[in-house]
Amino acid sequence: MQLTTPGLRLIPEAVLADNAALFRKIPETPSHHDRSLHRVVIVGGGAGGLELATRLGRRFGKGRLSVTLVDRNRTHIWKPLLHEVASGALSASHDAVEYIAHASRNRYRYRIGEVVGVDRLKRQIFVAPSFDDDGRQIIPPRVLGYDTLVMAVGSLSNDFGTPGAALHAIALDTAEQAALFNRRMIDACLRANAQYEQLTPGQLHCVIVGAGATGVELAAELHKSMREIASHNLDNIDFEKLIRITIVEAGSRILPALPEQMAQASARLLIKLGLQIRCGIKVTEVTQEGVRLGEKLFVPAELVVWAAGIKAPDFLTTLDGLATDPINRLIVDETLRAVGDEHVFALGDCANCVLPGEERALPPRAQTAHQQADHLVKVVAARLAGKAAPPFRYRDYGSLVSLADYGAFGSLIGGLKIEGLLARLVYRSLHKMHLKAVHGLTKTALASIGEMIARRARPRIKLH
Ligand SMILES: Cc1cc2nc3c(=O)[nH]c(=O)nc-3n(C[C@H](O)[C@H](O)[C@H](O)COP(=O)(O)OP(=O)(O)OC[C@H]3O[C@@H](n4cnc5c(N)ncnc54)[C@H](O)[C@@H]3O)c2cc1C
Repeated sequence: MQLTTPGLRLIPEAVLADNAALFRKIPETPSHHDRSLHRVVIVGGGAGGLELATRLGRRFGKGRLSVTLVDRNRTHIWKPLLHEVASGALSASHDAVEYIAHASRNRYRYRIGEVVGVDRLKRQIFVAPSFDDDGRQIIPPRVLGYDTLVMAVGSLSNDFGTPGAALHAIALDTAEQAALFNRRMIDACLRANAQYEQLTPGQLHCVIVGAGATGVELAAELHKSMREIASHNLDNIDFEKLIRITIVEAGSRILPALPEQMAQASARLLIKLGLQIRCGIKVTEVTQEGVRLGEKLFVPAELVVWAAGIKAPDFLTTLDGLATDPINRLIVDETLRAVGDEHVFALGDCANCVLPGEERALPPRAQTAHQQADHLVKVVAARLAGKAAPPFRYRDYGSLVSLADYGAFGSLIGGLKIEGLLARLVYRSLHKMHLKAVHGLTKTALASIGEMIARRARPRIKLH
C-alpha cells in the first residue's frame, strides 16, 4: 500500500495559490458530520494529532462530539523513528498505524487529503484532491466544516534556501524520504563493492548537515548499519576503511539544544567510533558530488542528509490571515488558541507557543506535542461545557539521545543524569508512551512482546 496519497503533489503551485477561489465554489461535504454535534477537525495525525483524535474519540465520540482527523497519508509513523527507518534498523510499514482501521476502532472519522486552506468566516477547511499512480482522481477537492479546528501539521526540515540542498540532500521528514535514503545507502554499498577497483572520491561517504538530536542519532545508526550491510557477503572491499560519516554543524558544538555534558559525552563516543565532526562552519552548497563548507572547503559525499533546522509548512502563512512567525508556525496563546481566532488551535511543531514568563517558544519535540494533545482534550471539554479554556502548563521531562547500540545519554527532570542501558530504556519508553496513547496498554504490551519475538527471526537491518 502507498504510504502517501499518490499524486497529491501533482497540484500545481498556481492552483494552490488560488485555493480560496477554487474551494469557495465547492459546497461543504454534507455527510461529513452529524450537525447536531460539536464538530472537531484535527489536521495532521502525527505525534500530537493522532493522540488527540484517539483521546477525543474514545472519550466523547459516542454521541457528544463529532471528531474528524485529516491527514495526507494513509498511515502514521512516529517521526522520531525515522532515522531508524533511514538506517534500515526499522521498516516503515512495520510500525505504521493504519488511520482507517484505527479511526473506526476509536470513534473518530479519518479523511485522507492534504489541507491547503481555511475559510475562517464559514469555519471550513479546504482539502486538495487525491490521485492514483496513473493520475486518475480518487477523491475530489472537498470542503469540511468545523466548530473547533486543531492544526497539528508538524514541521519540515529547513534548508534555509541553501543552493542545491533541495535537489541533492535528503531530509528525513517523511517515511518515504527515510525509505528512499535507506535504498540509496544500500545501493551505495552494493555499487562500491561491485566497483572495487574504480572507487571515486566521496564514494561511501555520508555527510549529515545539522548536529541536533536527529543528525547525531542518525550518524550513529548509519555507522552501525553500513557496516552491517557490508558484513552480508560484500567482501570485495574493506568497508571499515572506506565508510566515512561527517557531521557538519553551524553552531559551536553538537546537540546545541541539549545540556553541554550530554553533547560532550556524545561527541567523545562518535569520535571514538571514527566519525568526523565539523562545528562552527556553514554548508554553503550541496552538489551531486558533495557538500561545500564556507567559501573554500569541499567534502565529497555520495549521500547527504539535511537535518538542520525546521520550519512549519508554507501553507500556514495563508490561513485566512492567522498570525505566523518567521518559520511559518501559527502563533498561539497560553491555551494553544491561535491568536485572533477563538475556534482555531494549534499544537506540536507547527505552533509557536511562548508561555507567560518565558522568552522562547516551546521546543519542537515529541513530548511537547504529546503534552499539548493532552491539554487540548481539556480545552475541547471546556468548550463543550461552555467554560473558558484552561492555560497550558509545560513540564520538561528532560532530554535523551540514543547512539544506536553504542550508547545513550540523558538528562532528566531535576538534572538527573543517566546513561547506558537505563538511558536507552527511558528513550524506548517515549515511543511506548505514544503507542499506549494510540493503542491502549494491553495492545501496546502485546505488540511489544510480538516485536521481541519477531526480531529474533529477521536480520537486524533491512537489506532490500
Ligand atoms: C528523524 C527525527 C527524529 C526525531 N527524534 C526525536 C526525539 O528523539 N525526541 C523528540 O522529542 N522529538 C524528536 N523528533 C521531533 C518530533 O518527531 C516532533 O517534534 C513531533 O513529531 C511533532 O509532532 P507533531 O504532531 O507536531 O507533528 P508530526 O508528528 O510531524 O505530524 C504531522 C502530521 O501532519 C500531517 N500533515 C502535514 N501537512 C498536512 C496537510 N497539509 N494536510 C494534512 N495532513 C498534513 C503529516 O502527514 C503528519 O502525519 C524527531 C524528528 C525527526 C524528523
